Amino acid sequence: MIDKKQYDLIIIGSGAAGMTTAAVAANEGLDVIVIEKTELIGGNTSFSGGMVYVPNNSAMEAAGVADDPEMALRYLDATVPTEDGRDMRKQFIEKGREAIDYLNEHTSVKLKPVPFYPDYYPDEEGSREGARVLEPYAFDARGLGKWFPKLRPPIPEFMLFGGMMVAREDLSSFRKVWKSVPAFVRVAQLTLQFVWQRLSHHRGTRLVLGNALSGRLLKSLIDLDVPILIESNTQGLIKKDGRISGIEVNTPGGPMILEARVGVVLATGGFSQSQEKRKKYLPLEASKHSAFAPGSTGDGLDLGETAGGVINDQNTHNAYWSPTSVYERADGRTVVYPHTVTDRGKPGSIVVNKAGRRFTNEAVSYHQFGEAMYAANKDSPSIPAYLICDNEFLWKYGLGAIIPFTQNLKPYQKANYLKTAPTLEALADLLGVYSGGLLETVGLFNKDAVSGDDTAFARGNNVYSKYLGDLEHAPNPCLAPLLKAPFHAVELVPSDLGTIAGLQINTDCQVLDADGQIIKGLYAAGNDMQSIMRGRYPGPGITLGPALTFGYLVAKHARQEKQKGV
Ligand SMILES: Cc1cc2nc3c(=O)[nH]c(=O)nc-3n(C[C@H](O)[C@H](O)[C@H](O)COP(=O)(O)OP(=O)(O)OC[C@H]3O[C@@H](n4cnc5c(N)ncnc54)[C@H](O)[C@@H]3O)c2cc1C
Repeated sequence: MIDKKQYDLIIIGSGAAGMTTAAVAANEGLDVIVIEKTELIGGNTSFSGGMVYVPNNSAMEAAGVADDPEMALRYLDATVPTEDGRDMRKQFIEKGREAIDYLNEHTSVKLKPVPFYPDYYPDEEGSREGARVLEPYAFDARGLGKWFPKLRPPIPEFMLFGGMMVAREDLSSFRKVWKSVPAFVRVAQLTLQFVWQRLSHHRGTRLVLGNALSGRLLKSLIDLDVPILIESNTQGLIKKDGRISGIEVNTPGGPMILEARVGVVLATGGFSQSQEKRKKYLPLEASKHSAFAPGSTGDGLDLGETAGGVINDQNTHNAYWSPTSVYERADGRTVVYPHTVTDRGKPGSIVVNKAGRRFTNEAVSYHQFGEAMYAANKDSPSIPAYLICDNEFLWKYGLGAIIPFTQNLKPYQKANYLKTAPTLEALADLLGVYSGGLLETVGLFNKDAVSGDDTAFARGNNVYSKYLGDLEHAPNPCLAPLLKAPFHAVELVPSDLGTIAGLQINTDCQVLDADGQIIKGLYAAGNDMQSIMRGRYPGPGITLGPALTFGYLVAKHARQEKQKGV
């Protein structure tokens, strides 16, 4: 509980945007508090891959990748071809590097470049093959002490043995565990460490990916003595003398009024979990299920609107898309699995529509794939679509929520998640897909797979496509014939990885009203602000990169406001 009722800055939401703002502001000498609605800290940042896109970041030189602001802007101009929001994207490129350097120097947030992770449109001018994206160093959660159980864990399907996280760079060791001695040694080492950690903790303490990012942010707040009120729901904003000056909040100890000398920051993660707003802003065909963390029900947008803010939904899309498979487990939990990088582009699978036809290169970014689903659906029913593979593929790469080397497929088949049949014709019948179309499609695909040239959609022909494939597979890392029965499929629907429509702001993240005037004392960051990419998805980490950058800028602006004595 807290005894103080007055702060410089009140931050609503404990994800990447909220905690970054809090950490920087506290480090700059502001008195801050973080309010979190749920019982857990970290929001979807904890669920995420933890990829942080920051072009021209200062670690790129050491990673041997040249970049500069003009090159980065040229790439964003090519991939987000609109004047709308260009000032925000310029600000992002100009200040992102500074924000990351600041966090690396002053907080526990330590990021390193991912040397090979190409921009999503590698053929566009100014693209880079890696290092624009950063990821957190693995984090030892024992440093969180009693706060560790309060950190939101990752999506269960992204952990092994019910609590062990696996870093991106260790995935290939798990895949090759029975084929390579070094891989076996690495897996054995990680597994033994995990068993040891579980003796004293509720899950593994070696955090990687998004959980390492939220863990590191939380550690920074603990070190800076920033109070965090969990299970506390903001009821409204208070306005006094023309500026937002506090909040009404329901806490476990009862309702409270907290005053903000400088302002209030909305960082509640957008509206992924609001059915009402999904209906309002997203296409009808989008899944009603989201993989996003449960707390983000659009509260920040509502609070912003009541203060006179405007939600801008004039984006190419109002959500970041991913093809997603959904099923209900025996224990009643709904699993929402985004097919981002693990299976779609790997050799030996294809995606078809009801007509049994492929409609796009499967090895494009998840957002592009989602766009392709909507586009194809206009001509021929393609939502849902079907991700189909043979038995060898399923064993080697897994399929959606089914991890590689799964012996017992029965629970997935019983839940109607995995459809299995001895022949492609029988699988088509099971799926309600036109079998003549499927047989023809697989026939052509198998022929192309042998030659290594996807004559239909050029899968595997650019560096990002190859990245999604299996670089150890030849002649084309994305292509292998579907041959070994039985054949399997899961159903794909487009769902969101976060929302894009958000509050209209200026380059300091101050919320603007319908006349474009600043609403004094009110900021928005993360998914509560309109995405600077306006519905496009240029590269890995384009939500967390801006969340960290603009969180940093909110804190810097708030410090100036405090100095001015507002
Ligand atoms: C599976 C998956 C993987 C992803 N991987 C990546 C990736 O690698 N890189 C990337 O850039 N993006 C990724 N994303 C998207 C990314 O996770 C989000 O865009 C980002 O975490 C949003 O940050 P945020 O701070 O805005 O919100 P969040 O991190 O979601 O935090 C918002 C917090 O606000 C709380 N809240 C909500 N309402 C209230 C209220 N009324 N009062 C107080 N608190 C409230 C929520 O409970 C939550 O804790 C991924 C998304 C998914 C689904």
